Amino acid sequence: MHYRRSRTVSLLVAVVATIGALLTAPAPAHAASASASGDGARLAAAPNFRAPFPCGQKWTYSHHSAEVRRALDFVRADGGSTAGTPVLASASGTATRMSQPSGAGNYIVIDHGGGWKTYYFHLASYSVPSGAAVSQGQQIGVTGSTGHSSGAHIHYEQLLNGVGQNIVIGGAGLPYPSQYHQSYLTSDNGCGGGGGDFRTWGSDIRVRADAYLNSPVVGVLPGPTNVTVVCQKQGSTVTAEGYTNNWWSKLRDQGGFISNIYVDHPAAQLPGVPIC
Ligand SMILES: [Zn+2]
Repeated sequence: MHYRRSRTVSLLVAVVATIGALLTAPAPAHAASASASGDGARLAAAPNFRAPFPCGQKWTYSHHSAEVRRALDFVRADGGSTAGTPVLASASGTATRMSQPSGAGNYIVIDHGGGWKTYYFHLASYSVPSGAAVSQGQQIGVTGSTGHSSGAHIHYEQLLNGVGQNIVIGGAGLPYPSQYHQSYLTSDNGCGGGGGDFRTWGSDIRVRADAYLNSPVVGVLPGPTNVTVVCQKQGSTVTAEGYTNNWWSKLRDQGGFISNIYVDHPAAQLPGVPIC
């Protein structure tokens, strides 16, 4: 994270946002009225939702009769631990932290605009503050079993104007099996086309074997360097040059991690880069 270009970036963002607002201002009303007239119009207005868990992971899902609205419950089916796995935004929007100890537990609501929202229940912890603008594939929480839940899972919903919709991922409607291990979903969320190219700043930046300050040093970047970030994850919190950040980037060609503080981009978590 680095703010050298923040003034220019902010200006650009403001201009783009203004143009975007002008272009899209009529959309919510149109989407709302279209939804009443047909599924085709409704689907056309929906965001392109992706799986609420990391790129490449395979999960199974089910829907039970006591379930609220048109939710699906997801658990991992690839040998990894469901508990503790990052929960990802299935589309961009504005995140809000919610809590319902007797029901949904800790959960996040993302408002995607146009009347569309997604819910992510039973989080062990939140990863973004309320009001955060999140991008598709960004980590918003950690999978857990808070609230009324018999085990770690992601309870996931897509709503239009407050009404639960049949869940669509990547443009395809998911079935609603009553048991796990009948249907599966492999995530392409946050894959980011294999990472991104960035430039580092600062001098004598240590590259470490893992995302922790006590990990062995495997290399040093003597000065600003073009790097390809293959993935990123949270590790030791680093405070340097007036910034604090616990995200680290895994560098393809240097074989290790650097703190995102030294990646020349204004965001703490880099956009378009998958979670490791
Ligand atoms: Zn559920």
